[in-house]
Amino acid sequence: MKISEIEARFDALYPLERRAEWDNDGLLVCPDRDRAVTAVVTCLDVTFPVIEKTIEVGAQLIVSHHPLLFEPLKAVNEDTIAGQKVLLLLQHEISLLSFHTRCDCAERGLNSEFAAALGVRLTPGAVLDPDQPYTGGVGTLFSRMTPEELARHVSETLDTPVRLYSAGTGVETVGLCCGSGKEFLGPALRLGADAFITGDVTYHAAQAAVEGGMTVIDCGHQASEALAAALFAEEIARFAPDIRVFPFREESFDGEIVDARRF
Ligand SMILES: [Zn+2]
Repeated sequence: MKISEIEARFDALYPLERRAEWDNDGLLVCPDRDRAVTAVVTCLDVTFPVIEKTIEVGAQLIVSHHPLLFEPLKAVNEDTIAGQKVLLLLQHEISLLSFHTRCDCAERGLNSEFAAALGVRLTPGAVLDPDQPYTGGVGTLFSRMTPEELARHVSETLDTPVRLYSAGTGVETVGLCCGSGKEFLGPALRLGADAFITGDVTYHAAQAAVEGGMTVIDCGHQASEALAAALFAEEIARFAPDIRVFPFREESFDGEIVDARRF
């Protein structure tokens, strides 16, 4: 299957018109659209280890969730990290497809996978922003829990440390948004969520939510979207079973909490 055919298959799954207007994704690097693909690496971020893996296994294509090129790149040279990566891809004739916000909101997309993994049944129509469907939704948790129990459940399920901002009340209705969803805490509260799960939560956003009576769990941006590599791999296996696919699981990049008071 050619790069252009794989691009078309993904465009059908994640239609371009559902992408946020500020976003930039699709076929971001491509030396030859007609190149035959026998192997693909799928990932969340196009990091140097991902590119090394792609070279190592002889893959012709990377499919990522986060776009490598987001800010305008004014020169392709060694002076920037993005420039270094584009050069490396071109030197090895590797193409890059990225599917970002249009994958977040797909019927079988990152938000629906995130909700399913956590045991949250999303309520049809309970979207956090009807104009921006990639922002996730609100649904019902498989069982009523305390904020601490929910935090433990999220930590175990996603295999990551989480930060709990507890409102102290039982949780049954849960809002969620994979990636960075702090701006949707307000809408989730208005939709009756007892708790909200996302990454990249800031102090003021969490404080306002808890004062409004909603628990917030910050599970980290990376952990909330780590399902992307497996999701893309499954889709490719479905439409092109002959292609070898290597889902890449990055080392966790959450930083470390150093708390001197604990020593
Ligand atoms: Zn993200």
